[in-house]
Amino acid sequence: MSFKSINPYTNEVVANYVADTAASIEKKLGLGHQQFLEFQHSSLDLRKSMMLSLVKHLEDHADEHAAIIVTEMGKTHKEAKAEVLKCAATAKYYVEHIAEMLQPKPLPSDDSVKSYISYEAKGIILAIMPWNFPFWQVFRFAIPNILAGNTAVLKHASNVSGCALAIEQIFLDAGFPPGTFQTLLVSSKDIEPVIADVRVQGVTITGSTPAGMSVASLAGKYLKKSVLELGGSDPFIVLKDADIAQAAKVAVQARMQNAGQSCIAAKRWIVEKSILAPFTEQVTNIIQNIKQGDPTSTGTDMGPMARLDLANDLMKQLQQSIRQGAKLVTGGQQQGCNVLPALLTGVQPGMTAFDEETFGPLAAITSANDETHAIQLANTTNFGLGASLWTNDLEKAAALVKRIESGNVFVNAMVRSDARLPFGGIKQSGYGRELSEVGAHEFLNIKTVYLQ
Ligand code: NAP
Repeated sequence: MSFKSINPYTNEVVANYVADTAASIEKKLGLGHQQFLEFQHSSLDLRKSMMLSLVKHLEDHADEHAAIIVTEMGKTHKEAKAEVLKCAATAKYYVEHIAEMLQPKPLPSDDSVKSYISYEAKGIILAIMPWNFPFWQVFRFAIPNILAGNTAVLKHASNVSGCALAIEQIFLDAGFPPGTFQTLLVSSKDIEPVIADVRVQGVTITGSTPAGMSVASLAGKYLKKSVLELGGSDPFIVLKDADIAQAAKVAVQARMQNAGQSCIAAKRWIVEKSILAPFTEQVTNIIQNIKQGDPTSTGTDMGPMARLDLANDLMKQLQQSIRQGAKLVTGGQQQGCNVLPALLTGVQPGMTAFDEETFGPLAAITSANDETHAIQLANTTNFGLGASLWTNDLEKAAALVKRIESGNVFVNAMVRSDARLPFGGIKQSGYGRELSEVGAHEFLNIKTVYLQ
């Protein structure tokens, strides 16, 4: 069994990686558990200093790491470098704040009783991660967990094994002991014994909803804590009193960055009908100016999609939506993994582009009669990850935010992940949170201590 990395822009096989065996997985879990036990006797300050070396390593080698990302999944070098630097910034943020996050929290007491919460590491946590942000998704989970004293094993997506091994090496180069962060080259169908292993205390998956359901079932079967960061079909709601030019600019960025392959991409643009014409005209112009091409070139705005099967799937969703009555305004031509950024108008519930997650450079506009209708359309989805709402009336926005079924709502801004903000979804977008203090606590034992 082996894993193949293919450059989606050149279509060349970059490398083949030999899968782990049951014996090598056993060895890695043994090492991870041993290191977890050692972390219990080492200080937080030591882990913080190793994390600062990791920050320096990421910053000093950002171009080199970005090159691996570009080669394996096709995003532009600019985007890949920003991703690596975001990992470094997040590590810095947690180094500064982790002590406060792990500080025992006093609970209400009276004269005779004292009680508090103690936050304690649990063991090895398994991370199952996707290829779309192959560094960021991994680091945002690993940084707080390792600082808190857990150890990590990673099952990365099968097309980014080079990134997975590079991340393992980064932890080693930063001075973390060998069992701290390890990559398992293992296929999805062979993951059950890892989840079942008594040394593995939790599993986090970032990926599609079907993958999340499968992993959650296994986590339930073996009674392991799980966090599910799954798909989204997020609404980008533009009300008639919004700054149309700014909304149009951000809508395109939010949908098209990373060649549209982002869980929180603005996949459904829901626009009040009185501003539909100027909004459509402006986004069309911006989309037509996106420069697609060689991801290694500095002049390129958008690289190819990560795999041919994904580009083919997106084209099927596009064509199906057109057959269902949507109108193609621009783009949509395919050449290998490259899909020219596309815009559909007249998209309605019941059409593929509205009902399904579209994971590529395809924007869809749906007209709303008024703001009540806009919110109703926004909630007409099984997903609930991150919504964006555009209006100049912030009081109205505050009221509408409560009616939007989503894990995150950003007003007059693009939905993004940020170390300071909890990140995660509701409905079929999953459960649990990453980032901030909330994310740092997900895989800890929130131990109640009662003293009398
Ligand atoms: P995917 O096919 O679900 O794969 C994600 C990861 O799960 C990969 O490592 C994959 O391994 C593994 N996997 C797939 N099926 C599995 C199973 N039955 N059991 C155990 N592991 C399994 O998703 P993707 O195509 O890589 O990524 C795109 C999806 O991720 C989109 O739906 C996107 O919205 C979502 N996503 C969500 C977030 C978030 O934070 N909520 C962030 C980014 C992406 P193999 O590659 O070996 O199959």
